[in-house]
Amino acid sequence: MIYCVEDERNIRELLVYTLGTTGFEAKGIHDGKELFENLEKEIPDLILLDIMLPGEDGYAILEKLKKDPSTREIPIIMVTAKEAEYDKVRGLDGGADDYITKPFGMMEFIARVKAVLRRTQKNAEDKIFYCENLSVNIDRHEVLDGKRKVELTYKEFEMLRYLMENQGIVLSRDRLLERIWGYDFDGETRTVDVHIRTLRQKLGNSGSLIETIRGVGYRIGDGK
Ligand code: CA
Repeated sequence: MIYCVEDERNIRELLVYTLGTTGFEAKGIHDGKELFENLEKEIPDLILLDIMLPGEDGYAILEKLKKDPSTREIPIIMVTAKEAEYDKVRGLDGGADDYITKPFGMMEFIARVKAVLRRTQKNAEDKIFYCENLSVNIDRHEVLDGKRKVELTYKEFEMLRYLMENQGIVLSRDRLLERIWGYDFDGETRTVDVHIRTLRQKLGNSGSLIETIRGVGYRIGDGK
């Protein structure tokens, strides 16, 4: 899924249409508000982000996307009407993967989209961990129990990620606490137990994959 954030209807429709005829699923989005509503429902593979938008502009939206762990890995192509070098640099510094200046040809546009997807999806393939029916996609911040999407908090996700990266290895409560909450966290190891409990619940059928090692900590899978 590709989100096309563009307030000018003609351009938006043209982008969605062009992507559609090239075999991509795309959705036209009018502004930042609508974008964030859609992100609640689905994390796309790519966002095309216009800079001049009603309400928040593209730069402000880019900054928000990069700050939020659930959206910061989404590749972004900035679409700009401004030729000024300043804008390009600013967008790329802010974490955009590419930019394209209006007006652009559709061939060039599709080539850019494909290039960014190629670059970013290669990474995504490297960063998916599996354990039986459980899969954790690090880049997309996506957890699946079979086909069911599991919504996790940031800490829960980081804990699951750490367990999956160390499949078959017992992780002590202290180690988990240190890794997820940081050295300075003045909490008790019981915090880990509480988070493991909610994590197991949310994972449903896959929750039982997290094994309690009495007196030590937790482990996921047998590492085979
Ligand atoms: Ca615009």
